[in-house]
This record gives sequence, C-alpha cells and structure tokens, in this order.
Amino acid sequence: MCGIVGYIGSKKAYPILIKGLKRLEYRGYDSAGVAMISDSGDLNVYKAKGKVDNLTDYCNDKDVSGCVGIAHTRWATHGEPSARNAHPHYSSTHNLAIIHNGIIENYADIKTQLQAKGVEFKSDTDTEVLVQLVEYIMVKKNLPLVEAVQVALHQVIGAYAIAIIDKRDPRQIIAARKQSPLVVGIGKDEFFLGSDASPIIDYTDKVVYLEDGNIAVIRLGEELKVISILGEEQELKVKTVDIDLGQIEKGGYEHFMLKEIFEQPECLMNCMRGRINVEGNHVTLSAMIDYRQQLLGAKRIVIVACGTSWHAGLIGKQLFESLCRIPCEVEYASEFRYRNPVVTKDDVVIAISQSGETADTLAAIQLAKEQGAFIFGICNAIGSSIPRATNTGTYIHVGPEIGVASTKAFTGQVTVLSMLALCLAAERKTISEDLYKQMVKELTQIPDKMVQALKTNEQIEHLAPIFTYAKNCLYLGRGYNYPLALEGALKLKEISYIHAEGYPAAEMKHGPIALIDSEMPVFVIATRDRLYEKVISNIQEVRARGGRVTALVTEGDTQIQKFADHVITLPDTLECFQPLIASIPLQLLAYHIAVCKGKDVDRPRNLAKSVTVE
Ligand code: GLU
Repeated sequence: MCGIVGYIGSKKAYPILIKGLKRLEYRGYDSAGVAMISDSGDLNVYKAKGKVDNLTDYCNDKDVSGCVGIAHTRWATHGEPSARNAHPHYSSTHNLAIIHNGIIENYADIKTQLQAKGVEFKSDTDTEVLVQLVEYIMVKKNLPLVEAVQVALHQVIGAYAIAIIDKRDPRQIIAARKQSPLVVGIGKDEFFLGSDASPIIDYTDKVVYLEDGNIAVIRLGEELKVISILGEEQELKVKTVDIDLGQIEKGGYEHFMLKEIFEQPECLMNCMRGRINVEGNHVTLSAMIDYRQQLLGAKRIVIVACGTSWHAGLIGKQLFESLCRIPCEVEYASEFRYRNPVVTKDDVVIAISQSGETADTLAAIQLAKEQGAFIFGICNAIGSSIPRATNTGTYIHVGPEIGVASTKAFTGQVTVLSMLALCLAAERKTISEDLYKQMVKELTQIPDKMVQALKTNEQIEHLAPIFTYAKNCLYLGRGYNYPLALEGALKLKEISYIHAEGYPAAEMKHGPIALIDSEMPVFVIATRDRLYEKVISNIQEVRARGGRVTALVTEGDTQIQKFADHVITLPDTLECFQPLIASIPLQLLAYHIAVCKGKDVDRPRNLAKSVTVE
C-alpha cells in the first residue's frame, strides 16, 4: 500500500503534490518522492527516506518549478526503505518517471530479460522493472507512451496503480490500475491523480474512479480519456465526491480498525501474491529457496512473539507439528529472553512481530542467535529491526496497520505460517501430494470466504448492545480454534475494557466453569471439525450452568442453534484455516461492543501500536 498523487494544469505542481502526499501519509511512510517536469523542460526526481517532511527539507534548495508532476509515499514491499528505492523511478534515459502502488509478481523474470539486453537497474524494487520495460518497448517498437504502457502491462503479473510522465511530452500523464486504487480528479483545464480522493477534494469534486484493467490518458487541453488495456475506449463515469477527509482516509469506515477488518480479503491476496502460483496448486517462498537446507534441517521450531503475534504462533505450532511433524514450541519473547532457555544450532527460531520493532522479540532473537539457532522473521514493516536481525523471513505484506488492535496483521501472520508449513511439509513429504494441492487451493480461496464471513457484520452490530453490560466474557475453542479463543478475548479486552478469557473448551471444567452464570456471555467457536461433537458437549456444560452462549458455526449446521442463544454462521473450510475465517466475527464483535460502549477504538487507553520497550 502506498500513496499516489499527480497533477497537470497551469498551477505550480509542487505544493499540490506535497499537500496531497501529506494527506496520503497514512498509507505508508517509508519514503517520499516527486517527479516534475520543470519550466525549462527537465525531468527532476527528488526523493528522501522517511516522512514527507524529509522530502520537503531535501527539496529546499532544488528546482521545484513546473506544472506537471507525480509523487509517491511508499510502503515498501520489494527493496528496503531507502532513498534509492523510493519512487519515482527514472527509466535508463531519464526520459520517463514512474510511481507505483502494488506488487509486480513476475518482476524478477522481466528484470533478468531486460538486464540481458543491457538495461541497467538503479533500485531493488519491483516497480523499476515497469518503467524500464515501457521505455524498452517505446524504443524497440517505436511506440508512443500510451501504447508502450499497454504492451508492457500485458506482460506484467500482479497488482498496480501507476502513473508515468515523459519529459518529451510534458502535456500528458498516463495512469493505469489493476487491483490497486486510483482516482482521477477533473478540474477546469487541470487534472489530479490520487490513490484516494483526499489529495483532490480541495480542488474539485468531480472524479473518475479508474476501474481494473483500465488506463487513463490525461492530456492538457483535451477531455480525459479512459481506455482498456487493449486500447478500447471506455465510458467515462464521472462521480461527485461528497465525503470528508477523515472518512476518505478511513476508506469511508468510521474507524481504521473496521477498515482494516474489511481489508483482510485483499490483504491476504497481497500476502499470497507471487508466492502461490496462478493455478493455485503450489507455494514458493523465496526464503525456502535461499535457505532450504537450514530450514529443512530444523530438528525443532521455536516461535517467539508477543500479544496477537503469539496467538498466531500457537496456530503455527499446530501447523508445523501436524503437517510437517516438526516439534514446535511457542514462547512469549519476554519470558524466553530471561529464562535461560535451551536453544541449539538445530533449532529454527521464528520471530513474529507486526511492526518488526518489538523490543522483547528482538532480545529473544539476539539470545537465540548467540546459541547458534537459525532465525526466520515474520513481520509487516519492511526493513524494520527484526527483519534486519534475522537470517531470513517472509513479510506478510498487509499494508500499514493503524488501528492499535491488530486484525489484518494476525490473519497475515497465520497465512505466512500456513504457507511456510505447506512448503516444509511438501519438501519433507510429510503430507501426500494430493493433500498438499488441496490445501494450497483452499488457502487461495480464503479471501473469498472472508468476504462471505464479513457479511456477518450487520448481525454482529445488532447483537453487540446485548453484551455491553458484561463484566466478564469467556471465549472457548479447541484445536486450531483454541488460539483464536485467546485472540478473540484479547481483542475484546483491548478495546472495550471488558475482562475476557480465552480457554480450551474442555479445560473449562477444571476451573473457569465456576464463573459461569446467566450474566456471563460465552463465545464458542464451534465450527465443524474433528472436535465438533466434543465442543457441543462443552456448550451443553455451559448451558447447564445458565451461561449465555453465542456460537460460531459452519454453514449448514442445524444442531447448535437448538441450544445456543445466538448463532453466527461461517463458510466451511479446512480445519487448519478456520481461524482465518472465524477471526472475522470475533474482531467484529470486539469492535461493535467497544463502539456501543463509546470507547476510542483506534486508540485504546494504555496501549501503543508498536511496543519498543520491554
Ligand atoms: N512494490 C513497490 C515497492 O516496494 C510499491 C510498494 C507500494 O505500494 O508502496 O516499491
């Protein structure tokens, strides 16, 4: 995820671009950059690592003249956050500059082909491949920019919103999108571009939301033209924007947390992009290729993490043990680091952290490293401290998570753990070829099933007020759903300040059952799996003590509704992927209960997004 801004007209482009970038900074702040065609016809690209203010400082003594430009604020996916990898990227001749939001999956192949033809690359990004390819096609086939873009986009697999300018034709911006958002603003003799409407609304309320697979040909003095990738002219659908700035940033949702809950299907697609092939029957992780021996050599896996990441780790443990037959332990990083644990060079230590900056997890990595273990990181923030401290790893690629209560990072972490377990299981031959293929296919279907699960939002919104009185809540689940019970309880605690406990359903009778009475809401994850019948007995035990049960069940379930107070129905999937689906109603429950209680959902009291102190 990143922010894209563009301007072409008769005003000075620079202030418009910078103001637009500041509005989009919530989408990424690894670096910022601008490309402008100056009054004297030069194509100037300026970029700086970090926030937009660093860019403006850098530009203080630069030529920022010109009335056409594009600008970008980056959330890195390929290549560390640095000025070198910041967008815009020049083509080799410096005639073109590009900005891009998304991931070009086949960038490595295209890069190798272009390098073989003598093209030199200046960055480690997937993005640079696009601009070099467009230029190569323009020269080789003698095509105008727009046609070269069409040809190039045919060769590209992945997701993109792009904008390109050409210093030889300063009256034009070419923009295109597939699976990443892009909006064109139409003013009087001027046009604007934005990842959303926030950089545009100060100047015009007339916008065109570019559709997937379309290209916008933006030319000064002409009408906006939208064509398909095949060059067919598309009907121009001009809309009027009437939402305010705060709403745009939150994608029209009331809170970042709700936006991030709803983003999950798209985030998981990004997480799997380039890792699961198009046919959906094979997973490849680059870490598995580069460090095959070290990863396959694991005699034991130790997962170190904190909070929500620790819950994802508990799901990882079940995956590694049941699919790969590798013993696995999950440790709170804060405990692990101080208890003189046994770690050997035959261990693979997996460190999980959304921010990549969690102090305890970093310290745990240090300790494990000193004992000779091989360290694998699962993080969201590219180039953060943990990925730098590990031997290798896999980013979850879910984009910036702004809500303090983690949602999309959790499902991203579980997805990476699932992909890693599948890779290891396939290599170790601990699951059959058929089961492997079935599981990979099912994983690719999770985003669609999440879309279905998100339809429970309205039902949950209606249910939420019933629970606001509660002082305590219990969350029960078994097997893969036990860590989810912990996660559901944590979400509720974090944002609604209601005390909640997650428990393995069968353990309840060894203690917590004493707490149950008619005042106690009990949330049970009772999806259909191996332990289904047993969970039903556990629900009966709760009912017998007057407990009020809300059950998450699989579609087609007719049994549980007979004795549960409320039933939330979810699409069916394989047992091990159930937490990916069932996390959605639990996140929504916590969210709506907190909203009903009037709590500050995105900034809960006493909590910080990234825990950089021990
Ligand atoms: N994949 C591109 C990069 O890493 C764009 C990332 C973004 O959307 O910000 O540079």
